[in-house]
Amino acid sequence: MGVDLHTHTTASDGSDSPAELVSAAAALGLSAVAVTDHDTTEGLAEAEAAASRAGIEVVRGLELSLEWGRGAMHLLVLLIEDRHYLSSRLVRVREGRTRRNLEVVELLRSLGMDVTLEEVREEGGSGTIGRPHFASLLVKKGYAPDIPAAFDLYLGRGRPAYVERFRLGPAEAIAAAHAAGGVAVLAHPLTLGVEGGRLSAVLEELSEQGLDGMEAYYGAYDPPTRRSLIELARRHGLVPSGGSDYHGRFKPDVKLGTGRGDLLVPDEVLAELRAAVAARRSPAPHRA
Ligand code: AMP
Ligand code: FE
Ligand code: FE
Ligand code: ZN
Repeated sequence: MGVDLHTHTTASDGSDSPAELVSAAAALGLSAVAVTDHDTTEGLAEAEAAASRAGIEVVRGLELSLEWGRGAMHLLVLLIEDRHYLSSRLVRVREGRTRRNLEVVELLRSLGMDVTLEEVREEGGSGTIGRPHFASLLVKKGYAPDIPAAFDLYLGRGRPAYVERFRLGPAEAIAAAHAAGGVAVLAHPLTLGVEGGRLSAVLEELSEQGLDGMEAYYGAYDPPTRRSLIELARRHGLVPSGGSDYHGRFKPDVKLGTGRGDLLVPDEVLAELRAAVAARRSPAPHRA
Protein backbone atom coordinates (compact mmCIF):
# COMPACT_ATOMS: atom_id res chain seq x y z
CA MET A 1 0.00 0.00 0.00
CA GLY A 2 1.13 3.48 -0.79
CA VAL A 3 3.67 4.89 -3.21
CA ASP A 4 6.80 7.03 -3.02
CA LEU A 5 7.17 9.29 -6.05
CA HIS A 6 10.39 11.13 -5.14
CA THR A 7 13.67 9.30 -4.42
CA HIS A 8 17.36 9.52 -5.27
CA THR A 9 19.90 6.77 -5.90
CA THR A 10 23.64 6.48 -6.55
CA ALA A 11 22.86 7.62 -10.11
CA SER A 12 22.80 11.10 -8.50
CA ASP A 13 23.04 12.16 -4.85
CA GLY A 14 21.42 9.21 -3.07
CA SER A 15 23.44 6.49 -1.35
CA ASP A 16 21.39 3.38 -2.25
CA SER A 17 21.99 1.80 -5.63
CA PRO A 18 18.84 1.69 -7.79
CA ALA A 19 18.49 -2.06 -7.09
CA GLU A 20 18.89 -1.54 -3.32
CA LEU A 21 16.33 1.24 -3.31
CA VAL A 22 13.80 -0.84 -5.23
CA SER A 23 14.13 -3.85 -2.93
CA ALA A 24 13.88 -1.62 0.14
CA ALA A 25 10.69 -0.07 -1.28
CA ALA A 26 9.26 -3.55 -1.96
CA ALA A 27 10.17 -4.68 1.57
CA LEU A 28 8.21 -1.69 2.94
CA GLY A 29 5.17 -2.93 1.03
CA LEU A 30 4.95 0.07 -1.31
CA SER A 31 3.10 -0.64 -4.54
CA ALA A 32 5.25 1.74 -6.61
CA VAL A 33 8.40 3.81 -6.27
CA ALA A 34 9.57 6.57 -8.61
CA VAL A 35 13.30 6.94 -9.16
CA THR A 36 13.88 10.68 -9.66
CA ASP A 37 17.60 11.35 -9.81
CA HIS A 38 18.90 14.84 -10.57
CA ASP A 39 19.36 15.51 -14.31
CA THR A 40 19.80 11.84 -15.23
CA THR A 41 17.87 8.71 -16.19
CA GLU A 42 20.94 6.50 -15.76
CA GLY A 43 19.54 4.65 -12.74
CA LEU A 44 16.28 3.61 -14.36
CA ALA A 45 17.37 0.49 -16.24
CA GLU A 46 18.82 -1.11 -13.09
CA ALA A 47 15.76 -0.07 -11.06
CA GLU A 48 13.38 -1.60 -13.59
CA ALA A 49 15.32 -4.85 -13.72
CA ALA A 50 15.19 -5.06 -9.91
CA ALA A 51 11.48 -4.21 -9.87
CA SER A 52 10.45 -7.17 -11.94
CA ARG A 53 12.26 -9.43 -9.44
CA ALA A 54 10.89 -7.66 -6.33
CA GLY A 55 7.25 -7.39 -7.41
CA ILE A 56 6.95 -3.62 -7.23
CA GLU A 57 6.36 -1.06 -9.94
CA VAL A 58 9.08 1.44 -10.81
CA VAL A 59 7.91 4.81 -12.11
CA ARG A 60 10.50 6.33 -14.42
CA GLY A 61 11.39 9.81 -13.27
CA LEU A 62 13.95 12.57 -12.99
CA GLU A 63 14.31 15.85 -11.06
CA LEU A 64 15.37 19.15 -12.62
CA SER A 65 16.38 22.43 -10.97
CA LEU A 66 14.79 25.24 -12.95
CA GLU A 67 15.65 28.84 -13.69
CA TRP A 68 13.96 30.85 -10.99
CA GLY A 69 15.05 34.08 -9.34
CA ARG A 70 14.30 33.29 -5.71
CA GLY A 71 14.55 30.08 -3.71
CA ALA A 72 14.64 26.74 -5.50
CA MET A 73 12.18 25.61 -8.16
CA HIS A 74 12.52 21.87 -8.78
CA LEU A 75 10.46 19.90 -11.26
CA LEU A 76 9.84 16.16 -11.16
CA VAL A 77 9.26 14.48 -14.48
CA LEU A 78 7.30 11.27 -13.83
CA LEU A 79 6.03 8.43 -16.02
CA ILE A 80 8.73 9.05 -18.62
CA GLU A 81 8.04 7.09 -21.78
CA ASP A 82 11.10 8.00 -23.83
CA ARG A 83 14.06 8.39 -21.50
CA HIS A 84 16.59 8.62 -24.34
CA TYR A 85 14.79 11.61 -25.80
CA LEU A 86 14.62 13.33 -22.41
CA SER A 87 18.27 12.58 -21.74
CA SER A 88 19.24 14.11 -25.09
CA ARG A 89 17.41 17.30 -24.11
CA LEU A 90 19.53 17.56 -20.97
CA VAL A 91 23.03 17.52 -22.43
CA ARG A 92 23.49 21.23 -21.75
CA VAL A 93 22.24 20.83 -18.19
CA ARG A 94 24.75 18.07 -17.48
CA GLU A 95 27.60 20.03 -19.09
CA GLY A 96 26.67 23.01 -16.92
CA ARG A 97 26.82 20.80 -13.84
CA THR A 98 30.27 19.48 -14.77
CA ARG A 99 31.58 23.02 -15.27
CA ARG A 100 29.98 24.18 -12.00
CA ASN A 101 31.58 21.31 -10.09
CA LEU A 102 35.04 22.32 -11.34
CA GLU A 103 34.44 25.90 -10.21
CA VAL A 104 33.23 24.80 -6.76
CA VAL A 105 36.45 22.82 -6.24
CA GLU A 106 38.50 25.90 -7.19
CA LEU A 107 36.51 28.09 -4.79
CA LEU A 108 36.90 25.65 -1.90
CA ARG A 109 40.63 25.47 -2.58
CA SER A 110 40.89 29.25 -2.71
CA LEU A 111 39.17 29.29 0.72
CA GLY A 112 42.08 27.21 1.97
CA MET A 113 40.53 23.74 1.87
CA ASP A 114 42.51 20.77 0.68
CA VAL A 115 40.02 19.11 -1.69
CA THR A 116 40.26 17.73 -5.22
CA LEU A 117 37.65 16.81 -7.81
CA GLU A 118 38.96 13.26 -7.63
CA GLU A 119 38.03 13.08 -3.94
CA VAL A 120 34.56 14.52 -4.64
CA ARG A 121 34.10 11.88 -7.35
CA GLU A 122 34.92 9.17 -4.83
CA GLU A 123 31.99 10.40 -2.71
CA GLY A 124 29.69 10.22 -5.71
CA GLY A 125 30.66 6.86 -7.11
CA SER A 126 29.73 6.47 -10.74
CA GLY A 127 26.72 8.80 -10.71
CA THR A 128 26.04 12.49 -11.29
CA ILE A 129 28.14 14.60 -8.92
CA GLY A 130 26.16 17.10 -6.86
CA ARG A 131 26.61 19.36 -3.89
CA PRO A 132 25.78 16.64 -1.32
CA HIS A 133 28.97 14.86 -2.45
CA PHE A 134 30.98 18.03 -1.82
CA ALA A 135 29.23 18.34 1.55
CA SER A 136 30.07 14.77 2.49
CA LEU A 137 33.75 15.31 1.63
CA LEU A 138 33.89 18.52 3.67
CA VAL A 139 32.47 16.63 6.66
CA LYS A 140 34.96 13.80 6.20
CA LYS A 141 37.84 16.28 6.12
CA GLY A 142 36.64 18.14 9.21
CA TYR A 143 35.71 21.38 7.43
CA ALA A 144 32.05 21.08 8.50
CA PRO A 145 30.33 19.17 11.34
CA ASP A 146 27.58 17.67 9.16
CA ILE A 147 26.00 17.90 5.70
CA PRO A 148 23.45 20.66 6.45
CA ALA A 149 26.25 22.72 8.05
CA ALA A 150 28.42 22.29 4.94
CA PHE A 151 25.57 23.88 2.94
CA ASP A 152 25.11 26.67 5.49
CA LEU A 153 28.84 27.43 5.64
CA TYR A 154 29.92 27.01 2.01
CA LEU A 155 27.70 25.32 -0.56
CA GLY A 156 24.24 26.86 -0.19
CA ARG A 157 22.97 29.67 -2.38
CA GLY A 158 24.69 32.93 -1.45
CA ARG A 159 27.45 31.15 0.50
CA PRO A 160 31.16 31.49 -0.42
CA ALA A 161 31.47 28.33 -2.55
CA TYR A 162 28.11 28.62 -4.31
CA VAL A 163 28.24 28.72 -8.11
CA GLU A 164 25.25 29.07 -10.46
CA ARG A 165 24.77 26.45 -13.15
CA PHE A 166 22.80 26.34 -16.38
CA ARG A 167 19.14 25.49 -15.81
CA LEU A 168 16.12 25.11 -18.05
CA GLY A 169 13.25 27.55 -17.75
CA PRO A 170 9.93 26.21 -16.42
CA ALA A 171 8.08 26.31 -19.76
CA GLU A 172 10.93 24.57 -21.54
CA ALA A 173 11.20 21.86 -18.89
CA ILE A 174 7.45 21.20 -18.81
CA ALA A 175 7.42 20.91 -22.61
CA ALA A 176 10.35 18.46 -22.49
CA ALA A 177 8.51 16.37 -19.87
CA HIS A 178 5.46 16.14 -22.11
CA ALA A 179 7.49 15.45 -25.24
CA ALA A 180 9.04 12.50 -23.41
CA GLY A 181 5.53 11.17 -22.68
CA GLY A 182 5.57 12.06 -19.00
CA VAL A 183 4.00 14.47 -16.53
CA ALA A 184 5.51 17.56 -14.91
CA VAL A 185 5.16 17.88 -11.14
CA LEU A 186 6.39 20.82 -9.07
CA ALA A 187 8.56 19.45 -6.24
CA HIS A 188 8.48 20.70 -2.61
CA PRO A 189 6.60 23.95 -3.48
CA LEU A 190 7.57 25.68 -0.23
CA THR A 191 11.19 26.07 -1.39
CA LEU A 192 10.01 28.53 -4.07
CA GLY A 193 10.29 31.37 -1.59
CA VAL A 194 6.78 32.68 -2.24
CA GLU A 195 3.63 32.16 -0.19
CA GLY A 196 -0.08 32.86 -0.21
CA GLY A 197 -1.36 34.88 -3.15
CA ARG A 198 2.06 35.04 -4.78
CA LEU A 199 2.41 31.26 -4.67
CA SER A 200 -1.05 31.00 -6.24
CA ALA A 201 0.00 33.39 -9.01
CA VAL A 202 3.11 31.29 -9.75
CA LEU A 203 1.02 28.11 -9.80
CA GLU A 204 -1.42 29.79 -12.15
CA GLU A 205 1.38 30.64 -14.56
CA LEU A 206 2.95 27.17 -14.35
CA SER A 207 -0.48 25.59 -14.94
CA GLU A 208 -0.85 27.65 -18.09
CA GLN A 209 2.53 26.27 -19.18
CA GLY A 210 1.16 22.75 -18.72
CA LEU A 211 2.16 21.77 -15.19
CA ASP A 212 0.30 18.57 -14.25
CA GLY A 213 0.86 18.22 -10.54
CA MET A 214 2.48 19.56 -7.40
CA GLU A 215 3.94 17.80 -4.38
CA ALA A 216 1.65 18.06 -1.39
CA TYR A 217 2.39 14.78 0.38
CA TYR A 218 6.04 15.66 1.00
CA GLY A 219 8.19 13.94 3.62
CA ALA A 220 9.41 17.11 5.30
CA TYR A 221 6.00 18.84 5.57
CA ASP A 222 3.78 18.41 8.61
CA PRO A 223 0.21 17.07 8.20
CA PRO A 224 -1.56 20.48 8.28
CA THR A 225 0.85 21.80 5.62
CA ARG A 226 0.21 18.72 3.48
CA ARG A 227 -3.53 19.24 3.80
CA SER A 228 -3.36 22.87 2.76
CA LEU A 229 -1.10 21.99 -0.20
CA ILE A 230 -3.55 19.28 -1.32
CA GLU A 231 -6.28 21.92 -1.29
CA LEU A 232 -4.08 24.43 -3.11
CA ALA A 233 -3.23 21.85 -5.78
CA ARG A 234 -6.93 21.06 -6.29
CA ARG A 235 -7.79 24.74 -6.62
CA HIS A 236 -5.33 24.97 -9.50
CA GLY A 237 -6.42 21.73 -11.15
CA LEU A 238 -3.10 20.08 -10.26
CA VAL A 239 -2.69 16.48 -9.09
CA PRO A 240 -1.43 16.50 -5.47
CA SER A 241 1.59 14.22 -5.78
CA GLY A 242 3.98 13.08 -3.11
CA GLY A 243 7.13 11.38 -2.01
CA SER A 244 9.83 11.26 0.61
CA ASP A 245 12.79 12.82 -1.29
CA TYR A 246 14.83 9.96 0.13
CA HIS A 247 18.62 10.37 -0.33
CA GLY A 248 19.93 7.62 2.01
CA ARG A 249 22.92 8.78 4.06
CA PHE A 250 22.95 12.19 2.35
CA LYS A 251 19.67 13.08 4.16
CA PRO A 252 19.78 10.75 7.16
CA ASP A 253 16.56 12.04 8.77
CA VAL A 254 14.43 11.17 5.70
CA LYS A 255 13.17 7.59 5.38
CA LEU A 256 12.07 5.88 2.20
CA GLY A 257 8.25 5.81 1.91
CA THR A 258 7.56 7.46 5.26
CA GLY A 259 9.74 10.60 5.13
CA ARG A 260 10.02 11.88 8.71
CA GLY A 261 7.97 8.87 9.81
CA ASP A 262 4.35 9.75 9.16
CA LEU A 263 4.13 10.03 5.38
CA LEU A 264 1.72 7.88 3.37
CA VAL A 265 1.21 8.77 -0.27
CA PRO A 266 -2.00 7.11 -1.50
CA ASP A 267 -1.97 4.86 -4.58
CA GLU A 268 -4.64 7.09 -6.14
CA VAL A 269 -2.04 9.82 -6.70
CA LEU A 270 -0.25 7.66 -9.25
CA ALA A 271 -3.54 6.73 -10.90
CA GLU A 272 -4.37 10.43 -11.24
CA LEU A 273 -0.99 11.20 -12.80
CA ARG A 274 -1.56 8.39 -15.30
CA ALA A 275 -4.97 9.84 -16.09
CA ALA A 276 -3.25 13.17 -16.82
CA VAL A 277 -1.01 11.44 -19.39
CA ALA A 278 -4.00 9.70 -20.96
CA ALA A 279 -5.99 12.95 -21.10
CA ARG A 280 -3.16 14.65 -22.95
CA ARG A 281 -3.03 11.86 -25.52
CA SER A 282 -6.74 11.94 -26.23
CA PRO A 283 -8.09 15.32 -25.20
CA ALA A 284 -11.81 15.49 -24.63
CA PRO A 285 -13.45 16.81 -27.85
CA HIS A 286 -15.07 19.82 -26.15
CA ARG A 287 -11.69 20.93 -24.80
CA ALA A 288 -9.74 20.50 -28.01
P1 AMP B 1 23.04 20.28 -7.02
O1 AMP B 1 21.95 19.74 -7.91
O2 AMP B 1 24.35 19.59 -7.23
O3 AMP B 1 23.14 21.77 -7.07
O4 AMP B 1 22.63 19.90 -5.53
C1 AMP B 1 21.31 20.07 -5.08
C2 AMP B 1 21.00 19.08 -3.99
O5 AMP B 1 21.69 19.44 -2.79
C3 AMP B 1 19.54 19.08 -3.57
O6 AMP B 1 18.76 18.27 -4.36
C4 AMP B 1 19.63 18.51 -2.18
O7 AMP B 1 19.81 17.11 -2.26
C5 AMP B 1 20.91 19.10 -1.66
N1 AMP B 1 20.74 20.33 -0.87
C6 AMP B 1 20.47 21.59 -1.32
N2 AMP B 1 20.43 22.48 -0.31
C7 AMP B 1 20.67 21.77 0.82
C8 AMP B 1 20.77 22.11 2.22
N3 AMP B 1 20.62 23.37 2.64
N4 AMP B 1 21.01 21.11 3.09
C9 AMP B 1 21.17 19.83 2.68
N5 AMP B 1 21.10 19.44 1.37
C10 AMP B 1 20.85 20.40 0.47
FE1 FE C 1 19.36 15.85 -4.08
FE1 FE D 1 14.55 18.84 -4.96
ZN1 ZN E 1 14.84 15.44 -4.74
